[in-house]
Amino acid sequence: MKWSKLIRGINVVAFSCMTVAVLLPEIVEARLRVVATTTILADTVQQIGHDKVAVRSLMGSNPHHYKIRTEDIRHLSQAHLVIYNGLSIENGLRRVLSQLPKNVYIIDVSDCLPKKNLRSSHQFDDHHSHSHPENSCGYHYDPHFWLNVNHWMVVVRQIEKSLKVIDSNQAHFYHMSSNKYLGQLNELDQYIRSQSEKIPVNLRFLVTSHNALGYFGQAYGFETDGLMGTEGEETSIANLRRLSYKIMDQKLTTIFWDNTTSRKSMQALQESILAKGHKVSLAGPILVGGVLDSRQTLQNCDKHNHSTYDGMMRHNVDTILVHLTPQQGRR
Ligand SMILES: [Zn+2]
Ligand SMILES: [Zn+2]
Repeated sequence: MKWSKLIRGINVVAFSCMTVAVLLPEIVEARLRVVATTTILADTVQQIGHDKVAVRSLMGSNPHHYKIRTEDIRHLSQAHLVIYNGLSIENGLRRVLSQLPKNVYIIDVSDCLPKKNLRSSHQFDDHHSHSHPENSCGYHYDPHFWLNVNHWMVVVRQIEKSLKVIDSNQAHFYHMSSNKYLGQLNELDQYIRSQSEKIPVNLRFLVTSHNALGYFGQAYGFETDGLMGTEGEETSIANLRRLSYKIMDQKLTTIFWDNTTSRKSMQALQESILAKGHKVSLAGPILVGGVLDSRQTLQNCDKHNHSTYDGMMRHNVDTILVHLTPQQGRR
């Protein structure tokens, strides 16, 4: 390969947002081997790299319950590029990531976002008490920033930059496809915005199984809350009670389950509200933690391509619109 010879001469690369400066691997395959931790990252790399990359994701649609497998360690150490979300998503991989061979190029995409754009637990955790040993201040960041399309667009540029550094011969290709994809995401952002605006302001309140929609709510004008915390932690009876009363106070008629937690926990919340004489329905799933495998289907929705980030975001806003807007009726 022409480009593999070209880059072999470069020893150390470093620029802003890079977690690790690395030695580049001797590349023997035609395609770059990329390992992305989440399925959303994997889809994004695919949209930019097309046939120039062979992408693998590790975590499936629920990153919070990920358990590392032996083959994952093998794929990570043989990758040319490893891309991870950062914040608390890869807690279970932290040690492995820090011990990868020096020739693996690693990026933490959360590094690309200014800290002021991240939601810290000061903003969202008034009803939970977590302790995070890695953070001496006792607060942590909500990791679900992909649910704000504008934040994700920053990540797209970062992935483009990394691909260009490793595979500089295809720099033009990556630049063009990333531009095209950013155009698509710009349309997606507009679409979510216009769909959200159809919902009466007093009904823009999203209660999901785990409190993952904070960035979405911030960007598109919804109040958000969840039965479980931002990292999918177990809930307490006190929190279930608090949320039941909040839902009744705000006269909310629909709550949502998401694809990272079992529907049962939300059914318990729904039942506790119904028992108090307030009618509330349970809708979903909202796709929060990952895109679906291309072989997976959703029973109640064949409208979107749920195995892409674009399709996942459209699915979410369409589901929310149908269920929060009275005149649209119920599915
Ligand atoms: Zn989550
Ligand atoms: Zn759908």
